[in-house]
Amino acid sequence: MSAYDLIVIGGGPAGSAAAITAARARKRVLLLERGRFPRHKVCGEFISPEATELLRFLLGDAAKPLLTMAPRVTRSRFFLDGRILTAPIAPPALSVPRFVLDEALWRIAQQICDCRQETAADSVVHGHRGFQVHSKNERWESAALVNASGRWSNLTSTHLPATAPRWLGIKAHFREAMPPPSVDLYFFRGGYCGVQPIGDGRVNACAMVDAGVASSLEQVFAKNHDLWHRSRDWKILTEPVTTAPLVFRTPAPVSDSGVLHAGDAAGFIDPFAGDGIAIALRSGAKAALSSSGDYARWYTREVLPAFRAAARFRKLVETPRWVRRAALSLLRNQRMAAWAVKTTRSRG
Ligand SMILES: Cc1cc2nc3c(=O)[nH]c(=O)nc-3n(C[C@H](O)[C@H](O)[C@H](O)COP(=O)(O)OP(=O)(O)OC[C@H]3O[C@@H](n4cnc5c(N)ncnc54)[C@H](O)[C@@H]3O)c2cc1C
Repeated sequence: MSAYDLIVIGGGPAGSAAAITAARARKRVLLLERGRFPRHKVCGEFISPEATELLRFLLGDAAKPLLTMAPRVTRSRFFLDGRILTAPIAPPALSVPRFVLDEALWRIAQQICDCRQETAADSVVHGHRGFQVHSKNERWESAALVNASGRWSNLTSTHLPATAPRWLGIKAHFREAMPPPSVDLYFFRGGYCGVQPIGDGRVNACAMVDAGVASSLEQVFAKNHDLWHRSRDWKILTEPVTTAPLVFRTPAPVSDSGVLHAGDAAGFIDPFAGDGIAIALRSGAKAALSSSGDYARWYTREVLPAFRAAARFRKLVETPRWVRRAALSLLRNQRMAAWAVKTTRSRG
């Protein structure tokens, strides 16, 4: 049985950020990933400006080729109730497919940590000397453990009440000749779909939708007139990928046994906030070197306010049309719009 300073479960942005940060601080780190890279992942692939500095730091020399090529997203457009609301994004956000991003981070981690792909952590035991992690055929020990296994895994899922809304995520890449440099959010009753350029005349279309309203991207496109119109000439380039359920619950950054939860394993922020990857990178990097008390305090101060703001905006989309219209007319003021976006972003 091998002993480590830190075991990280899950090789998405949160897990790779934790592993890279701890290894650079000379910790002995084991990073476990159930799947295999590269792989497509349901995501809008919008990297908020707040994440880019940390991403550059984590990627090191690999940052320049990857991020220089990435399209800049300079504005967001909201298509709702037949109206379009535009808000600038300054500094610009980046657009990087998860097929590329997650593998790039994983490769950096591989250079400095023990990394295992296709190795699922089946269970975790907490003893007086630390943690034991069991896979099908092996077990490892560590002083500290970061659970970065995502929104819905064998280590993070909880009971889903029968009455909970059944949200589904779907995404695919499409050919579009000249996509504008914007993240475009098309709302409809029961969900929304984000579209943004990913370079080389391609766009990513990614929807969050009530499973009773639509279960394919074609059905989603038909729900919003502007989106239907835009998507008519698209050619599909990747097999659609889906994920469910999408569950919103109160974030829990630390477990009773002292496991630090990073990224979606701690809490899932509404995707339209566009801050999930930023939160994953930040919380992973923070968890790598923190005590449970410090981490919980940091999370409450820097991340929780973004969750609360995103939940308020989600409620707004579900309110009667006249309330939405009133709120949207307030958001036509550029300063108000910039403030509203800022509230949905994590800090630190
Ligand atoms: C519809 C939708 C759209 C989104 N759009 C955006 C967006 O545009 N911008 C943005 O910033 N965020 C977006 N997000 C959120 C973003 O995708 C997540 O916040 C981000 O992926 C979280 O990263 P993570 O590392 O915590 O988890 P993940 O990326 O989910 O990584 C977890 C990893 O853990 C592995 N794993 C699970 N269980 C085990 C186990 N037992 N053992 C070993 N490995 C395991 C999984 O295979 C996975 O690779 C979106 C999410 C959805 C659903």
